[in-house]
Amino acid sequence: MTDVDVAVVGAGVAGLTAAYELGKAGREARVFEAADVVGGRMTTLREDGYLIDTCAEQMAERGYEETWRLLAELGVDPAAAPPIGRGIAMWRGRARPGVAQTRGLVTGAGLSLRARLDAARLLRGTFDIERPEHSRLGEATVAEFAAPHHPDLLDYLLQPVVSGFFGWDPARSAAAPLLALLTAVGPPPTWRAYRDGMDTFARALAAKTDVTTGFPVDEIVDDGSSARVRGGAWEISARAVVLAVPAPVAARLHPRHGSAFLRECSFTPVVKAHLLLDRPLGGPDYALVVPTAENGTVSTVIFDHLKHPGRAPEGRGLVTLMAHPAVVPELLEASDEAVASRLTGAAEPLVPGLGSATRRAIVRRVRHALPEATPRALASRSGFEAGLGRGVVDYAGDWVFLSPCSEAAVRSGVRAALRLAVRPAKERAR
Ligand SMILES: Cc1cc2nc3c(=O)[nH]c(=O)nc-3n(C[C@H](O)[C@H](O)[C@H](O)COP(=O)(O)OP(=O)(O)OC[C@H]3O[C@@H](n4cnc5c(N)ncnc54)[C@H](O)[C@@H]3O)c2cc1C
Repeated sequence: MTDVDVAVVGAGVAGLTAAYELGKAGREARVFEAADVVGGRMTTLREDGYLIDTCAEQMAERGYEETWRLLAELGVDPAAAPPIGRGIAMWRGRARPGVAQTRGLVTGAGLSLRARLDAARLLRGTFDIERPEHSRLGEATVAEFAAPHHPDLLDYLLQPVVSGFFGWDPARSAAAPLLALLTAVGPPPTWRAYRDGMDTFARALAAKTDVTTGFPVDEIVDDGSSARVRGGAWEISARAVVLAVPAPVAARLHPRHGSAFLRECSFTPVVKAHLLLDRPLGGPDYALVVPTAENGTVSTVIFDHLKHPGRAPEGRGLVTLMAHPAVVPELLEASDEAVASRLTGAAEPLVPGLGSATRRAIVRRVRHALPEATPRALASRSGFEAGLGRGVVDYAGDWVFLSPCSEAAVRSGVRAALRLAVRPAKERAR
């Protein structure tokens, strides 16, 4: 007899989705989460009347089909995630509006005319978010993909977007997953943010699943027909396990899998400073991406209070600064005060008055922030996925599709649940 039917490790949206879908399919799933809260990279801090999204900042109207389907099933009104209704600007001496919008073709959004035409042409096409390797781009990196075109395409569009949102180095990450995402989600003003924080979805899923928080799992021991899940002094047995943690953590918890993809599936780290302001600054765009050529310390500025009025108390502001990937390794080791002062100082020319408006800074370091999607990981991805569903241990997470977005995490959870739900009854009765 095992203690649980399916043990899901990790209460991010991938693990919670897997557990919820397994429940619908008549299997008993129990989720074990290391942190004290659910949501993983979709959590929200509530401090002094500020709502601080610690990782994911937005979702989209388009391209998030499984998320919207589940929200409807869970009874979450679409109005809980209203459109942001504002765009993204590119910094080129000043903020240039219209990034990834048709109006950017006219305003320029920081691009020369030739580069605008290149961008419009290259961003067309069909890409599959679940099979990024099936595209005409092959395993080309973002930098290789951009190389034959006007240099602005890399320097004032692709580099700032991939470094600023995913922490990627364009010379290391593959272009195909990026284009699959960009073409799926549509223009920024249609993107949405949950009114009550980006953890809304995880909280709704957790309300329908059996989750134990504060339970860090140390090891999975798989004997081929069942598994033991070990954490601290605890040990439980399970018929099946879904490892819904970032790939490097999954590889550590269950080293026996030995898959090339798990070895290659690296993650980028991210360092951010959330600045609680005594007044709102910035606008009209809700985010500003900053090319390396313009600033080597801050890569993105998000004006969170412009995402939704409830993000900051009346008359106050909330701004998030993302560190440029080049300085992240040193900032991971620096004190909170040093990180906040370095990022705020570097952002002052982008947002005048930022230093004096800051009442408090909250620094966040995410070591496994986003799947890096290197060409080697892309080359081994489909083989890994094809092998899933045969053993006791299955996997879920955005990284399964090498896509740096929550919709990929949700889809991976749905697929993991489907694989387990269709297992032959004989095997399940073991
Ligand atoms: C800075 C940043 C910005 C982002 N912005 C966006 C955005 O705007 N839009 C978007 O769609 N996506 C965004 N993303 C990506 C999105 O957040 C992720 O794709 C998604 O949340 C991943 O969900 P997951 O369940 O796969 O993983 P996670 O959310 O990482 O969940 C894994 C869970 O496992 C837990 N865990 C880890 N180790 C153990 C262990 N040993 N035992 C038990 N539990 C463990 C973790 O605590 C965590 O809760 C962003 C990510 C980051 C980092």
